[in-house]
Amino acid sequence: MSTTDFSSLNLHPDLLKNLSSLGYESMTPIQALSLPAILSGKDVIGQGKTGSGKTAAFGLGLLQKLNVKSFKAQSIVLCPTRELADQVASEIRKLARAVHNIKVLTLCGGAPFGPQIGSLEHGTHIVVGTPGRIEEHLRKGTLKLDHITTLVLDEADRMLDMGFQDTIDEIIEKIPANRQTLLFSATFPDEIASIAERVMQSPTMVEAPSTHEESTIKQYFYEANSADERMMALRLLLAKHKPDSALVFCNTKIDTQDVADELIYYGFYALSIHGDLDQRERDQALIRFSNKSISVLVATDVAARGLDIDSLDMVINFNIAHDPEVHVHRIGRTGRAGRSGIACTLYGDRETHKLNALELDITPDSLPSDSLLDKPIRKPTMTTLKIDGGKKQKLRPGDIVGGLTGKGGIPGDKIGKIIVASNWSYVAVSSELVKQALKKISNDKLKGRSFRVRILS
Ligand code: AMP
Repeated sequence: MSTTDFSSLNLHPDLLKNLSSLGYESMTPIQALSLPAILSGKDVIGQGKTGSGKTAAFGLGLLQKLNVKSFKAQSIVLCPTRELADQVASEIRKLARAVHNIKVLTLCGGAPFGPQIGSLEHGTHIVVGTPGRIEEHLRKGTLKLDHITTLVLDEADRMLDMGFQDTIDEIIEKIPANRQTLLFSATFPDEIASIAERVMQSPTMVEAPSTHEESTIKQYFYEANSADERMMALRLLLAKHKPDSALVFCNTKIDTQDVADELIYYGFYALSIHGDLDQRERDQALIRFSNKSISVLVATDVAARGLDIDSLDMVINFNIAHDPEVHVHRIGRTGRAGRSGIACTLYGDRETHKLNALELDITPDSLPSDSLLDKPIRKPTMTTLKIDGGKKQKLRPGDIVGGLTGKGGIPGDKIGKIIVASNWSYVAVSSELVKQALKKISNDKLKGRSFRVRILS
């Protein structure tokens, strides 16, 4: 028997038999690594994306310890979107089909309350839902969590991106402390470590080996001397790679502004950040860039400090860094979390010593053909909306998700990051659905109030 056989686990025979009928021959890496700890009742942090088999990993864990005779909610799975919640619920139902009468209930925003309350009154074993709606049920007293034995935070990084941190904290407060907590996330920003520290007990960490090639950064070097040559090179590289998010490094503050201005002049969706911006301008620029509603951000090393964006497609050094360490730091901002990244560096003939200091085997590359500039410039995939209401108006991320989805709205997976500040909020939506999103928020009230909403530009 190999260690990837489900039969190596001490699973309930009905669950085991069902797995083979589902065609699950052996465990996926994340299952083999996490299931022994999950089944022994430990808290587990799993790094795994959709497609890794993570749902079955936690799903089997919570089914194994379910008391079917008690119709009280015993497990709760928090997901960032309704689409994921539906997917998770249907996978759990599949895994549970050999066990008689297991009730899995989804509670998500954008759906009417009535039927959800009705289902809750009939009793349920497993609740899967989005934080905003679950919190509303807790406030109304229609959902009780005092019998929960397992809490799952699925796609935790995305839930934090969507601004659900406070709501999640409020939900967790209502769950008995002696529960098992399982957290799955594709990436591990500092906020995940801090949430894990607060809500988990000595968690076991498991990381599924990447099914893709390990993170790779492809480096390219181009000779460009005058300012015009550099600008031309930059436009050609952006036109060729069409990044969703590219960070362009300049060595001086003045250059960042000039480069951004020129890119905008040529129709690129670009902004610069530098020390002369006030806090709000800087925040808005970063929000638009991290929301992917601006594709190019031009910055100096100092201004880019603290920029925590984990999915940059490319880094372009408009000026090669003075120091090899700075170069490595700059290009390390792409190719994170198992993704591939591109780093392009422009250098002048008087800068070859900086190139040599990198100690790489460099062959200069040729720039793409000028004809690329005749093609239309790719529009950003997302658009950021600014809503004139925030924490002081008691708006929460869940209200915004609820306000955007549902009848006449847009699907939850077309919503990107949500940031709720004191007096206003920002939400990223897919550019192709921006009109629908604006209409939905303007026509329907949020929490019974109308808020002004506009495109952030
Ligand atoms: P997930 O990453 O949880 O979204 O799962 C990805 C897909 O893999 C789902 O369609 C599951 O039904 C399927 N799956 C999960 N575990 C296994 C397994 N051990 N063998 C075959 N398929 C699996």
